[in-house]
Amino acid sequence: MNCLETLSYGNSILKSNNIDSYKLDSELLLANVMKMSREELLINLQEQLDRIKLNKFKKLIDRRKRKEPIAYIFKKKEFWKFNFAVDNNVLIPRPETELIVEEVLKLTNFKSSKHFLDIGTGSGCIILSIIKERPSSIGTALDISKKAIKIATSNAKMHHIQNKVKFVNISVDKYLGSKYDFIVSNPPYINSIEYNRLEMNVKFEPHVALKAGVDGLSVVKKLILKSKNLLKINGKLIFEVGSKQMIQVINLLKKNGFYINRVCKDFQSIPRVIISTKII
Ligand code: GLN
Repeated sequence: MNCLETLSYGNSILKSNNIDSYKLDSELLLANVMKMSREELLINLQEQLDRIKLNKFKKLIDRRKRKEPIAYIFKKKEFWKFNFAVDNNVLIPRPETELIVEEVLKLTNFKSSKHFLDIGTGSGCIILSIIKERPSSIGTALDISKKAIKIATSNAKMHHIQNKVKFVNISVDKYLGSKYDFIVSNPPYINSIEYNRLEMNVKFEPHVALKAGVDGLSVVKKLILKSKNLLKINGKLIFEVGSKQMIQVINLLKKNGFYINRVCKDFQSIPRVIISTKII
């Protein structure tokens, strides 16, 4: 079989299993097997596949057909300007989370020397992107999952900033740190009912990174209470919020002595990231 025929085989299997991105996914999976970029593959469609490559492709199609995310199949995901290693112990970095990085960059400059705390770091994508962009700053990152800390640490090494970011395997409740200039977080914020309605591919991701009690706010409440103690006066708390939670979150922040600077909308115009300042 040549690549063109193999692609149409992949397309038909993924399509009949309701994978919306069937065409793109088949191309990415075949390009990976052929050790080519997607662009190279598309201009070499007549190239023949040997039996080993064909079997490899069939196995990958089989995983994707069961809704396993492409990022877990390839064990990597791009976020901001960088690549991060991921596996099913960490959430797959989402484009809307890049808003946190973007806002931090607006509030600092290349020479800023600040101390950042990332609560629930997962793959480390947020804190590592920030420290890459602000090399005179340092970071501390917490996660309750030991396996996540392992991945985040290896991502720090991959980006040569392991000396600037300290990873701690601890729950935010127990953490007693110094005073930070910035706290960033993409906490779990999905309630139990919403979780059950999520698409199958999301269920490959760790529950602990997504689910947050019956109202979806259990972790956000802890995050706000802890940030009150961990931030310097005028320090900023910047985090991602679930759709439909923004008003409740704003009230919680105000009640706890935070000033609301800004709310950023994501690509679907959903209020998604909040920037607040500890004023008392
Ligand atoms: N900070 C990580 C991310 O944004 C993990 C977030 C989480 O596990 N809730 O991808």
